[in-house]
Amino acid sequence: MTPLGDLLARRIAKTGPLILADYMAECLFHPRHGYYVSGDPLGAGGDFTTAPEISQTFGEILGLCLAQSWLDQGRPQPFALAELGPGRGTLMADILRAARAVPGFVEAAQLHLVEASPALRACQAETLGSRQVQWHAEVGALPDLPLFLIANEFFDALPIRQFRRGAAGVGWHERVVTLRDDGTPAFAWSAPAPVAALAPQLADTAEGDIVELRPAADAVMQVLAGRIAAHGGAAVIIDYGDARSRGDTFQAVRGHAPVDPLAEPGRADLTAHVDFGALREAARGVGVSEPVAQGLLLERLGITARAQALARRLTGAALESHVAAHRRLTHPAEMGTLFKAVALHAPGAPLPPGFDP
Ligand code: SAH
Repeated sequence: MTPLGDLLARRIAKTGPLILADYMAECLFHPRHGYYVSGDPLGAGGDFTTAPEISQTFGEILGLCLAQSWLDQGRPQPFALAELGPGRGTLMADILRAARAVPGFVEAAQLHLVEASPALRACQAETLGSRQVQWHAEVGALPDLPLFLIANEFFDALPIRQFRRGAAGVGWHERVVTLRDDGTPAFAWSAPAPVAALAPQLADTAEGDIVELRPAADAVMQVLAGRIAAHGGAAVIIDYGDARSRGDTFQAVRGHAPVDPLAEPGRADLTAHVDFGALREAARGVGVSEPVAQGLLLERLGITARAQALARRLTGAALESHVAAHRRLTHPAEMGTLFKAVALHAPGAPLPPGFDP
């Protein structure tokens, strides 16, 4: 067991089982042993790879998408160019480089990064070099300015609660982490109870079905929508998931492979699919797009033309890996359809390019 595993086992022995959201929050962000606190999961030999780390074209094309939205809203200045969970800072660096082609955008941008991990903040500072950056621990600290924001693979890391529908009329069982007699952690289901937030799911679930809620994501969406409604702007959110929460999507990854989420608390990345329907419903008072598949969005934004332009300078193994990276981002069998995107935009302003109302 890891040091965090021992801490959690003592806590469960003392105060009872942990709901999944509390287990996930501790594993990811425990102030000493949390997965994101103690290391760089995206670095060389890390646990997973994300789209901006696969190809520079991802950030370039999405940077131009945000810049077009800024032009469409009358070039407000100053404005906050913000990112949630910027990882190594690669996406923001690619956005800034591409958006230099749009006169005035980079000059008017104040950089705001929402990042909980000290290790990743340091990495972002290095990637972004001399650029002035303000870091925040919470979205609520974003400034009162027009907001143009991106979030890639941020929401999947926010803690979920998981429920199984019980027999007729009894309500929902909640998944908890408890201890076996020998002190090792195990999953269990709580006694059933009604859950008001799951009322909409009653229509399309049956006994035994599993659904997930992500209260922290709803809170983040409310803040983003509030900022954009009050000051203008747009937000582009990309992640793996679907239009509705379906089944058990809780997963642990270590060294690019799935592992048991209870085996090494604090050493594996824990995530769950994003419920884009719930995100959209939480964004009140702003325009919200339909979810669009990542591959389709990137194609619409011209990623293939950009990839072809870069390919002209490449040969041999470099060209092969460039072509493979493009395929990985866009192909339906890779990230193209598993990943989706939604956009928020100021009421009355056009949607960012590439999105459907
Ligand atoms: N967007 C990056 C990194 C994705 S990994 C990329 O595409 O490469 C998830 C990122 O979100 C990490 O930077 C992690 O530290 C951050 N993060 C996760 N949960 C967070 C929270 N609750 N508050 C702030 N940052 C968080």
